[in-house]
Amino acid sequence: MNCWTRRRTPGREEKEDMARTKVRPLGHCSRCTRAWWPGASDEDQWNTVHKGGRLTGYLCPQCQTPEENAEAEVKAALVDYDHPITDADGRVRLAPRGGWHSVAVGTHSVVQSDPAVHLALGIENSQLHIGVAAHTDARLHDLFSETCAVHVRTELDRVGARPGHRTLTFTATDGLPPTNVLVVEDRAACTDGDRGEMVVLVSRQMTPHLLAAFAPPVADSIRAALRDT
Ligand SMILES: [Zn+2]
Repeated sequence: MNCWTRRRTPGREEKEDMARTKVRPLGHCSRCTRAWWPGASDEDQWNTVHKGGRLTGYLCPQCQTPEENAEAEVKAALVDYDHPITDADGRVRLAPRGGWHSVAVGTHSVVQSDPAVHLALGIENSQLHIGVAAHTDARLHDLFSETCAVHVRTELDRVGARPGHRTLTFTATDGLPPTNVLVVEDRAACTDGDRGEMVVLVSRQMTPHLLAAFAPPVADSIRAALRDT
């Protein structure tokens, strides 16, 4: 089945690139063959046509049926076209608006600046960013769904985290943005170095897209924490 999407308006940098190079059409309409010119008044009304994740053509505003036009409008509202990712077999993947299609691990500024923070997770530009601290419990990857756990385990190895015996509790708070989750140390409950309690902090307005990052039992605990507060 064909899928009709609306190309996003080019950003400033792209426009500068176009100005530097000789202006060429972005493509040609698959029905009437007219050229899609960058900078034209109808530029952002053109649809790109994809089949199985591959770009197969373009449709000018005049040639789009009302259904094709409406479908592209709806998708532009629901799908983040600004941050596509191309997978190993050349398919373009897009995330829902506010969601994520890929995982990036690395040092997170919050993890570096606050020793009480063991792990920070957030959605940015359709990517799930995860940062872990070297002093955390190496078993933390158990919290995550299969897709994420692989990345987290590799990162925990890289930073040299060691297995501990901490217990976990779940708390919903107003103090976090909806797109972030933190795993922090509960200092009050911390009796000795690696046997303290860790708290998974989620926002009361947490985006449901984040639940997919966690293993099913953990996602259930998060849902329960959201219900209880
Ligand atoms: Zn046309």
